[in-house]
Amino acid sequence: MMLKQERAEFIINRLETLYPNTPVPLNNNNNFELLVAVLLSAQCTDERVNKVTPSLFAIANNPFEMQKVDIDSIYNIIRPCGLAPQKSKAISNLSKILVEKFNGEVPDDMYELEKLPGVGHKTAGVVVSQCFGHPAFPVDTHIHRLAQRWGLTKGKNVKVTEKDLKKIFPSEKWNKLHLQIIFYGREFCSAWGCDGTVCEICKTCYPNRLKPFITKKS
Ligand code: SF4
Repeated sequence: MMLKQERAEFIINRLETLYPNTPVPLNNNNNFELLVAVLLSAQCTDERVNKVTPSLFAIANNPFEMQKVDIDSIYNIIRPCGLAPQKSKAISNLSKILVEKFNGEVPDDMYELEKLPGVGHKTAGVVVSQCFGHPAFPVDTHIHRLAQRWGLTKGKNVKVTEKDLKKIFPSEKWNKLHLQIIFYGREFCSAWGCDGTVCEICKTCYPNRLKPFITKKS
């Protein structure tokens, strides 16, 4: 079996070969649009968010305009994304806060972002990483699962997984790795599709793994 650091290096190289480019999966034209798209992606696929956001941003693509749109109109557009009552209220309220407190700009700061309605730690991490290029390692269920299958964390919960991944990987690689791991998860490593003994990463990192590997949920 490889050592943890050896596994990490193998994974970095493998992901870099597979995904040399990491385009942001949620379509957006400015920081506000990205923030709203990430908020909408909670418990929803990026694909579905990308179908919904053009109609929403056609009405309002900045907080000044969005704060004037009534919540029912937002609700009707974003309904396919699920959790529409909470998400539509959050979009409306965070737009007001951005206008009142931040001159309509998305703050460049995890702490301020996490205080906005509908914005949790993971959303804030994606925004600082993808809008501003600050190192962050947002852990969603895919990353939580893969990090366990690759032996990079024991997977106690997403908080611990984030801490473990930040310890193993150099900070200048976090933003890209976050996306590369998600791409790998989508392409090869689904929640139910594998028991951890099939493809190259697990076979290289754990050549002696014979039994199915069960992951803990986030
Ligand atoms: S062997 Fe299975 S668990 Fe491991 S990386 Fe491949 S698909 Fe994922």
